[in-house]
Amino acid sequence: MLAKAAEKCRGCALYCNATQTVFGKGPPDASLMFVGEQPGDQEDRAGRPFVGPSGRLLSEAMERVGIPRDEAYVTNAVKHFKFEPRGKRRLHSKPSAREVAACRPWLEAEIKVVQPKMIVTLGATAAQSLLGSAFRLTQHRGEVIRDTPWAPWVLATVHPSALLRAPDRDARERAYAEFLNDLKIVARQLKSQTRQMAAH
Ligand code: SF4
Repeated sequence: MLAKAAEKCRGCALYCNATQTVFGKGPPDASLMFVGEQPGDQEDRAGRPFVGPSGRLLSEAMERVGIPRDEAYVTNAVKHFKFEPRGKRRLHSKPSAREVAACRPWLEAEIKVVQPKMIVTLGATAAQSLLGSAFRLTQHRGEVIRDTPWAPWVLATVHPSALLRAPDRDARERAYAEFLNDLKIVARQLKSQTRQMAAH
């Protein structure tokens, strides 16, 4: 229903050039929600979030740390693809604070429906959308932030697209290892919740 309503959203100008609204996907009662920045080129065409290179990298990393991909809900802070045309290519363009704010009611509505135990924000845009514009990913990356208005736990890490942009193989391997460390914290946190539930 929410996704259907979002198809007709005209809350900002991004709907004009994008192919379609790309709403979140996943179990409606998922314990874990990932929030990225916005759909990319492949997501815009497919109408599904995290199906392009960044999404594949995220799935691979989740598998490595034992988080089942199909148990997580994945979405974005902004639901339409913002890009600059370059010949036949469409280059990602960062959404403005205004566009992020215009789209936040959709994200808030998704969180309200899913009620995840833990939200993982991917990249600065998603982190600032939920944790405020003063939030600095460089300072608080990988920390479990407790008792937020959104979920009992929120953890901010980088967007997987940052790993794909690493300048060389060494830098990419380092960035991937750091990303895995953050996801291991997420996996541990979710396991602690399962243990607590089993004990009651
Ligand atoms: S980006 Fe968000 S607020 Fe803007 S038109 Fe799309 S769904 Fe609406």
